[in-house]
Amino acid sequence: MAENKYNTIIVGGGIAGLTSAAYLSRAGQKVLLIEKNKECGGLVNSFTRDGFQFDAGVRALEDAGIIFPMLEDLGIKLDVVKSPVSLGIENEIIHIEGQDSLLKYRELLVKLYPESEEETDKVIKIIRKIMKHMDVLYGIENPVFKDLKRDRTFIFKKLLPWLPKFIFTVGKINRLNMPVEDYLEKFVKNSSLRDIISQHFFKNTPTFFAMSYFSLYLDYFYPKGGVGKLPEALKNKITECGGEILTDTKIIEVTAEKCLVKDQNNITYKYDSLIWAADLKTLYRITNTDGLSQNIKTLSDDTKSMFLKNRGGDSVFSLFVEADEPLESFRKIANGHFFYTPSKIGLGEVHRAELDQLISNFENVEKEQILMWLDKFTRLNTYEISVPGLKDPDLVPPGKTGLIISFLAEYDLFKKVEDAGWLDEFISEIENRVLKVISDSVYPMLKDKTIAHFSFTPLSIENRVGSSEGAITGWSFQESMPVINKIQNSARSVVTPIPSIYQAGQWAYSPAGVPMSILTGRLAADRVLKQKKIL
Ligand SMILES: Cc1cc2nc3c(=O)[nH]c(=O)nc-3n(C[C@H](O)[C@H](O)[C@H](O)COP(=O)(O)OP(=O)(O)OC[C@H]3O[C@@H](n4cnc5c(N)ncnc54)[C@H](O)[C@@H]3O)c2cc1C
Repeated sequence: MAENKYNTIIVGGGIAGLTSAAYLSRAGQKVLLIEKNKECGGLVNSFTRDGFQFDAGVRALEDAGIIFPMLEDLGIKLDVVKSPVSLGIENEIIHIEGQDSLLKYRELLVKLYPESEEETDKVIKIIRKIMKHMDVLYGIENPVFKDLKRDRTFIFKKLLPWLPKFIFTVGKINRLNMPVEDYLEKFVKNSSLRDIISQHFFKNTPTFFAMSYFSLYLDYFYPKGGVGKLPEALKNKITECGGEILTDTKIIEVTAEKCLVKDQNNITYKYDSLIWAADLKTLYRITNTDGLSQNIKTLSDDTKSMFLKNRGGDSVFSLFVEADEPLESFRKIANGHFFYTPSKIGLGEVHRAELDQLISNFENVEKEQILMWLDKFTRLNTYEISVPGLKDPDLVPPGKTGLIISFLAEYDLFKKVEDAGWLDEFISEIENRVLKVISDSVYPMLKDKTIAHFSFTPLSIENRVGSSEGAITGWSFQESMPVINKIQNSARSVVTPIPSIYQAGQWAYSPAGVPMSILTGRLAADRVLKQKKIL
C-alpha cells in the first residue's frame, strides 16, 4: 500500500495528462500517470500498418502560441516541418501560403459562385478581421509557459505592451460567439456558399472559432516521424524527471473522501491531489462522494447532472488508404493537409434535418433509405485528407503513399446501426462510397492503385479513449456549454467541486483541441503546486 501513495495521480495519458505529469514531475513531485491503453497520446497518436505510418487522431498540430513555448520550457527538442494546407472544391484547388492566400480563396469562391460575389466579399472581410484578432491572440508566446519571475525582457518587451490589445481583442471575440451557421445566414443568402464555408466545422461552432481557421491553416506543423512524436517526447520527459507511468490500467472508481482511485484489477492508489485528464462524464459516474460534506456532495451532484445532460461534440469517420502510387503523383495535386469538397452544392439539410429524421425514426427506416442518404452525404461532404508521406517521406514504403480521408460523423447513427446488427456492412458501404467519390474526383489513381484500406468510426474512438459520444474535442456546441468557455476565465477551468480533484483536457474547457488541452494540463499542474505552496 505504501508504494501506491503519490503526491499527484493523473488519470488519462492524452496530451493534457502528459503535460500535467511532465510539469509536476519536473517540480519534484511523486507523480503517477495512469493510462488505460497500451500507449499514451490519446487522440494524438500515430501507428504503422503494412509499412505505412498513419496518424489515428489529429493530423497535424497548431502551435497557437502554446505548443512551442511548452516544448521550450520543458527543454524538449522536437524535429518538425511546416504542414501546408490546400483547399479544394470540385476542380479548383488553392494552396495556402500566407495571409495573401485569402485573395486566392476569394477568387476560388467567386469562380464557383459568380452570382454571390458581393456576399463572398463580405465573408472575406470578416475572415480578414478575424485574422487580425488572431495575430493579437497568438501574437506572443502564451505567458503561462514563460518564467514570469525571471524573464523580465518578456514581461516588459512583450507581455505588457500586448495585454491591452489582448483585452480589447477578447471583447471582440466574445461578441462573435454565436453559431457560425446563424452568423453567416445573416448576410449570405446563397445556402451552397454558406455550406461550403462552414460544413467542415462542428455543428454550431462559435463564429470566431470557425472563421479563425484561415489563420490556423498557416499555423499547422508536423513532427517528423508523425504526430505521435509529441506524446512520446512528453512521456520521455516524465520518466527522465522521475515520474511513473502505468499503461494498460483503467481507473474504475474514485473514492473522494479517502483520496483513492481503483483500477480494473481492484488495485488502489492513494493521492494527495488527483488530476482527471479524461472524459468528465466518466469521472462523475465513478466517483463516490460519501463522507464528504453535504455542501460538496450537492455541488458535485449538480455538476454531475449538468455533465450527464450534455453531449460530447461531433465525432469523425477516418478511412486509411494504402496506395501503390508514388508520393509525387499526390504532391502535384495538393499539399499533405487538404480540405476537399467534391461538389459545390453543399450538404444543406443532409447532415441536419434529414439525418435527425433518420436517427429519431430509425426503427421504421429501411436499410435502403439509409444507404440512399449515405450516397448524398458522401457526395456532398467536405473531406479532411492527410498524406503523412508528403510531410515526411520516411513514413511510407518507397514508391507508395498512405492517405487518411476523414469527415465529421454522427455517433448516434453508428450506434443505432451497430445495435441493429449491420455495423460491418455499414462501414464497408461508407468505405466504398468515399473511395468512389474521391477517385472519381481529385485522386483518380486511387481507383486502380488502392492496395488496402480500413477505417475507424465514432465507436472506435469511444472504445479507444473512452470519449463520450466519440467526441474529439469535448463538449457539443449544440447544447448549453457546461464548462468554462471564455479565454479570460481559463485559469478556473481546471477546478472541480470535489476537494483535491482537478480536471484538464478537452472536457475541461471549450472550444478545445490540442493547444487548449496542453494549456489546461499546465494550469491543473500549477493549481496542484500552488495548493502545496510550491509555486
Ligand atoms: C481526426 C481528428 C482530428 C483532429 N484535429 C484537430 C485539429 O486540427 N486541431 C486540434 O487542436 N485538435 C484536433 N483534434 C482534437 C485533439 O486531438 C484532442 O482534442 C486532444 O488530443 C484531446 O487531448 P486530451 O488529453 O484532452 O484527451 P484524450 O486524447 O481523449 O486523452 C484522454 C486519455 O485518457 C485515457 N482514459 C480515458 N478514461 C480512462 C480511465 N478510466 N482510466 C485511465 N485512462 C483513461 C484515454 O485512453 C486517453 O488516452 C482532432 C482529433 C481527431 C480525432
